[in-house]
Amino acid sequence: MTLSDKPRVLIVDDEPMNVELLQAYLQTDYEILSALDGQEALGIVYAENPDIVLLDVMMPGLNGYQVCDQIKSSEKTRFIPVVLVTALSGREDRLKGMEAGADDFLTKPVDRLELKMRVKSLLRIKDLQDNMIKERDQAQNYLDVVAVMMLVLDEDNTIKLINKRGLEILGYEEEEVLGKNLFEHLIPDECCSEMEAHLLDTLDHDGDEINYYESPILTKQKEQRIVSWYSKPITDDNGRVTGILCSGQDITKRKKAEEKLKEQTGAMEASVDGMCIMDRNGVYTYVNHAHASIFGYDDPAELIGKSWELLYDEHEKERFIDEILPEFYSKGEWKGELLGRKKDGNSFFQEVSITALDHGMVSVVRDVSERKEVEAKLNQYASELKSSNELKDLFTDILSHDLLNPAGIIKGFTDMLLHDESDESKLHKLHLIDNNASRLIEMIESAAKFARLEDIDKLEFKPMDLNGIIRNVVEELQPQLMAKDILLDMRLDDPHPAVLNPLVDGVFVNFISNAIKYGPSNSAVSIDIMDAGDEWKVSVTDSGEGIPEKDKELIFDRFSRLTEKKKAVKGSGLGLAIAKRIVELHGGRIGVEDNPAGKGSVFWATVKKA
Ligand code: ADP
Repeated sequence: MTLSDKPRVLIVDDEPMNVELLQAYLQTDYEILSALDGQEALGIVYAENPDIVLLDVMMPGLNGYQVCDQIKSSEKTRFIPVVLVTALSGREDRLKGMEAGADDFLTKPVDRLELKMRVKSLLRIKDLQDNMIKERDQAQNYLDVVAVMMLVLDEDNTIKLINKRGLEILGYEEEEVLGKNLFEHLIPDECCSEMEAHLLDTLDHDGDEINYYESPILTKQKEQRIVSWYSKPITDDNGRVTGILCSGQDITKRKKAEEKLKEQTGAMEASVDGMCIMDRNGVYTYVNHAHASIFGYDDPAELIGKSWELLYDEHEKERFIDEILPEFYSKGEWKGELLGRKKDGNSFFQEVSITALDHGMVSVVRDVSERKEVEAKLNQYASELKSSNELKDLFTDILSHDLLNPAGIIKGFTDMLLHDESDESKLHKLHLIDNNASRLIEMIESAAKFARLEDIDKLEFKPMDLNGIIRNVVEELQPQLMAKDILLDMRLDDPHPAVLNPLVDGVFVNFISNAIKYGPSNSAVSIDIMDAGDEWKVSVTDSGEGIPEKDKELIFDRFSRLTEKKKAVKGSGLGLAIAKRIVELHGGRIGVEDNPAGKGSVFWATVKKA
């Protein structure tokens, strides 16, 4: 208020004696300022801001009414009490003074006590007024610093007050908003009726109750912000509602974040993979249903607030410390397999990926125990297969070396003995040994050949003429043909270029030798090559027993022997299986049909044309 603690009184009178008198009355309790004319008085009022002004009315220049009027019309000084001190006591003069805004009147000659009392009471009022202004300013300050928008509406929804934050949110200047109707200027049309209902609802509520509501508001740029409103009716001393106080928080960002989170949470909930979010300490803050159920829990809530350690056993925890966490901290993520522990204590294999978040980590877990089981079975099967292959290789090796060699020795010595022997009965026995040794050698050779072919998946091909290959085979089989007096019908005039591997001759050796073997003596065997689009179809027709329908596929299988009679016939039963394999490796087909001309069969195979 003042430098000294005393209130300051400005005494204005053009008569120095009057000033002196009033000063004498007041100086013990007040600090006195004085002026001898209106102009000087106004200067002091503006410069010194006195607590009260005692103003003489009749002065040359600016009179008391004019000075008073000026004091009262300035925002800065209008609360300074002005006492008009006048010799005039007429009603009209008083009215004039009141019009000018005077707070009180004293009539000259001034009574000392009356003066002191008036000044004192006016100063008390001024003090109260000062406090009120201070409180009002403070309230305004509070309104301005709060982080929410504050609006005061009157009964017609006109904006009477708006704080700084409100102006910031809306992008308006104060004067663009004050006095405007809330609904016409700030609320989107489509939301007006709901907002109105909310405000009416607010008025219906008891004074102490706060009513919450969310609604969009339009900024100056016509952008919609979502505001969460808290409204409260304002009442006067009689309890009459005079307006509404609305505080609104701009929750646009929060709403958007909430929506995004909802979307993400929806996706996480729908995921078949287990997903969880942990805080920095590895405590679950979010767990989706899949995650809970992978670990055997019915409800994700059972895991929220628990540590990840609940779901892993000691061995895996050690892995986390030694191996996983160091990598996770250095790279911000980790992927791998872990052994999880279910609620019932059982373990299961899982594929896990952990990624760092700002305040923790997110982890995706997939139960891979089924895949692991299949993998284990496959591994076992592969190792069994490997050992069975090794066994097969061993047998093939034994067949082609260890068995073939002694069989060859038997055959060789038998041939020598046959040559030297003349005793019929011994010769007969030696022939038996010789035949069986030959059969044994042939069986060993074809079994070894078949085993080798089984291991091959690809052959090398080159263009070759089928005619040449077939002619060679026929020449090779000439002795057998002659032995059974078989006539070969073969017309191979035009060349038949095909994509072949030399192994293909095995197919024709088998077909023709079988036709000789299983056909009657003195019969005919024909060899034909037919054009079958991009293939050649080679067929060998005999007039033997033929193949019963049910055996037509079987005879191409390993070791299939057909009739009782075959026992008297040379052959290992692998010839057709070998032929089939060779044809398959050529990308062709093989088969047998009944001889259309009568008895016997037609064995055929196709190969690609060159
Ligand atoms: P192998 O002739 O050594 O027994 P193959 O695999 O060549 O072995 O033949 C399998 C079986 O098919 C033979 O045992 C025989 O019973 C039957 N077979 C093959 N060719 C003919 C044919 N041309 N006529 C009648 N039967 C045949």
